[in-house]
Amino acid sequence: MGSNSDYNPFTMNNPLNPEEFRRQGHMIVDFLADYYHNIPNYPVLSQVEPGYLQKRLPSFAPFGPESIETILQDIKQHIIPGITHWQSPSFFAFFPSSGSTAAFMGEMLSTGLNVVGFNWLSSPAATELESTVMDWLGQELKLPKEFLFSGHGGGVMLGTTCEAILATLVAARDRTLNLIGRDNIGKLVVYGSDQTHCAVQKAAHIAGFHPKNFRAVKTSRSSSYSLQPQSLLKTVQNDIRNGLVPCYLCATVGTTSTTAVDPVGALCHVAKEYGMWVHIDGAYAGSACICPEFRSLIDGVEDADSFSLNAHKWFLTNLDCCCLWVKDPNSLIKSLSTNPSYLHNNASESKGVVDYKDWQITLSRRFRALKVWMVLRSYGVSNLRNFLRSHVEMAKTFEELVKKDKRFEIVVPRNLAMVCFRLKPSLSSDSDANEMNRKLLDSVNESGRVYMSPAMVEGMFVIRCAVGATLTQEEHVIMAWNVVQEHATALLLNNY
Ligand SMILES: *Cc1c(COP(=O)(O)O)cnc(C)c1O
Repeated sequence: MGSNSDYNPFTMNNPLNPEEFRRQGHMIVDFLADYYHNIPNYPVLSQVEPGYLQKRLPSFAPFGPESIETILQDIKQHIIPGITHWQSPSFFAFFPSSGSTAAFMGEMLSTGLNVVGFNWLSSPAATELESTVMDWLGQELKLPKEFLFSGHGGGVMLGTTCEAILATLVAARDRTLNLIGRDNIGKLVVYGSDQTHCAVQKAAHIAGFHPKNFRAVKTSRSSSYSLQPQSLLKTVQNDIRNGLVPCYLCATVGTTSTTAVDPVGALCHVAKEYGMWVHIDGAYAGSACICPEFRSLIDGVEDADSFSLNAHKWFLTNLDCCCLWVKDPNSLIKSLSTNPSYLHNNASESKGVVDYKDWQITLSRRFRALKVWMVLRSYGVSNLRNFLRSHVEMAKTFEELVKKDKRFEIVVPRNLAMVCFRLKPSLSSDSDANEMNRKLLDSVNESGRVYMSPAMVEGMFVIRCAVGATLTQEEHVIMAWNVVQEHATALLLNNY
């Protein structure tokens, strides 16, 4: 048992021994507090080679027990080197995974209580807190009343946006098929843009849509890669001429590659004309809509059927938590409800309660509402707004720095806290420019000082700098730009 002289075999017989729980819990909290303290010292992008861990760990699980001390030692020695530090202040890749003390405490409570809230009776507080917090958050986003429980709609907390898209797509599918007959699934068409998240195409595949009936409507740089209503209209009309049936549109507020914002109102106008379900995917940018100055991003949402955002991206809520609001919960329930005898209970029969199992793909579900409730209460809406604004300001600073260096260009005007930039192609052909930018990004990331990630738009390799890690301060953004410049200078020297 290593150095743990307090080892007592009897504690092993009770895996929830309260005193042992207290002791180990404090150790882990201390470990994490030290981690957050030391995080700027780690290379942001993990530097290990594939297969590194298999080489270091035994090939078989231990037969006998090991102490927490021994295990923690291994975490420090073998796990931490293989971590890419999403909580690092110099993490600018993908979209942020913004964590917070409040969300961590909520997560800890949720994990500690460890309830499985599939229906109301299985833990009334889990369901009722979720409904309350979804209404709170919906109000702060100025969602129309129809999306709130207080207005006959409602919200649910899922794991990820992929689940929100699949759940709403299945509801849309069944709604349309109920009108035109179940045999016609091969005629249903799903729409998005060429910037829409791959989750939509995957959901269409899972939900049984014909593989040829997913439309990625083309966007262009001149309209900042947002989906144009005219392009959607033409595509829809063409499908109708071919005997197909429009079913579902996913409009995105803040696309993953470039944070493009599809014009929600105008797109709903087209989609509604053809009876489509409209989902608004605000995975990243949706959170910003609690700030009055950014709310216009979702203007027109009143004409959509559903809206979702990932609280685990930019709302200080540790993974996972996707918030989904729908106007007509019954359309979800019709498609996703189950009623096995082993879940029968009077509360559910009464129809007077929410059974969230019927709003989602999975049966078992975590008590996520605790996290978001604690975030909202611990920080208050005012601090949450300021937190979001501070990232937007830091991204502005980064953008200004890029603009000052004539070797670089901003690829599309910045929305919120993400800057898309690249070395200008002026010195070379477009494919050479891609090669140059790829090399630049690789060398920047290999330095371990910052981590940014790429996107390909219209064949163009762009570097994305997404500001949003909880610990990021202006100094980190300035340092990030210095790192990019240093590596660009070195690269250009070597190439010319
Ligand atoms: C991140 C993202 C998703 C996917 O989110 P998951 O929660 O990982 O499923 C979908 N859409 C957009 C616009 C995103 O940025």
